[in-house]
Amino acid sequence: MTPAELEVADLCVELIRVDSSNYGDGSGPGERAAAEVVMARLAEVGIEATYLESAPGRGNVITRVEGTDPSLPALLVHGHLDVVPANAADWTVDPFSGEVRDGYIWGRGAVDMKDMDAMMLAVLRQLTRDGRRPRRDLVFAWLADEEAGGTFGAKYLTKHHPGLFEGVTEAISEVGGYSLEVAPSLRLYLIETAQKGLAWMKLVADGTAGHGSMLNSDNAVTEVAKAVARIGSHDWPLAYTPTVRRFLVEIADAYGLPFDEDDPSVLLDRLGPLVRFVGATLRHTANPTQLDAGYKSNVIPGQASAVIDGRFLPGFEDDFFKTIDSLIGPKVRREFVHHDIALETTFDGALVESMIAALKAEDPAARAIPYCMSGGTDNKTFFADLDIRGFGFVPLRLPAGMDFASMFHGVDERVPVDALQFGVRVLERLLLDY
Ligand SMILES: [Zn+2]
Repeated sequence: MTPAELEVADLCVELIRVDSSNYGDGSGPGERAAAEVVMARLAEVGIEATYLESAPGRGNVITRVEGTDPSLPALLVHGHLDVVPANAADWTVDPFSGEVRDGYIWGRGAVDMKDMDAMMLAVLRQLTRDGRRPRRDLVFAWLADEEAGGTFGAKYLTKHHPGLFEGVTEAISEVGGYSLEVAPSLRLYLIETAQKGLAWMKLVADGTAGHGSMLNSDNAVTEVAKAVARIGSHDWPLAYTPTVRRFLVEIADAYGLPFDEDDPSVLLDRLGPLVRFVGATLRHTANPTQLDAGYKSNVIPGQASAVIDGRFLPGFEDDFFKTIDSLIGPKVRREFVHHDIALETTFDGALVESMIAALKAEDPAARAIPYCMSGGTDNKTFFADLDIRGFGFVPLRLPAGMDFASMFHGVDERVPVDALQFGVRVLERLLLDY
């Protein structure tokens, strides 16, 4: 084993032991301590990385490795240092222990995403110790605040220090690159090339306030309730983006099944628990999540509101809002609580070829396929704003049948040690060869 393979598990454990929970309200410990681990491990091999705080305790680490060919555009490799909180009472182990048991590292962040943070560290330390240089500039970034929208991480850096990303045209990060075993001779590696957009919408109805005992044909509560019911029970039709179509065609081929466009459920069933990652990418979704109206049983309020969590498919944003507006009706207006773009890139080009080659070199049974995720990552908005083409690529060869999707933000989050070692080998190949 190479030194990078030997140390990646220890690095991951060390990072998990630093509680960097992000509560989204500024009350957490921040990322400084985790960033200090990264800085120290880089300093050990002589790398003086840049440490930037967007607010007290909200630490980001970034460093650039100069490539041998300055004519090539740079590649960004990024991971976030924060994690979502964990309720220790629910867990089999202490979520911040980084306990290694049965070949797995257990703990909050083991897959989201201190695994990749550690793989990036291990590979960069190895390249530096060996004095090997990549062909193109590589920008490594360990970021704060991804779990609460990136304000103190990706947003801060791209807004206030865009020069750090000069010459960068592509990026790799979470959530993709993991395997789905079809048979011992065929493992699909799902590379994320698309993300749904996000529309958190507040619906507001204004009506005539009055006494609850009297006739009232202009009741704000009634109007909002009708709009919420129409949206919540709307049956969104199937709509295939190029990524989702390609994904389903590949799944059909891998399992030797037909792809029935009108009923892809047979294919989705074959994905097992991974259906949680992709099931919601075949159509828009709009789920009512909050209702707010009134203050007393016999008082009709003048205003009522609700919140809808809408997720729209890349390329179909106009269609989504047209439908939403027709469902809302004329008496209800909508405002954005939060609005974020959808992303989709093609599954081609030299970076994709290099990812495929690196996977195949380490796993002859590998076949890489693109997929769309229903959530979002730092690649969305902030890096997309800088015209950086992003991919989800954290290479992990997982055991057959592992319920990987439930690890994200889940109880007993864990990652196989040998998957990290595999990831280090793939990443090292990719970063050197590309
Ligand atoms: Zn994440």
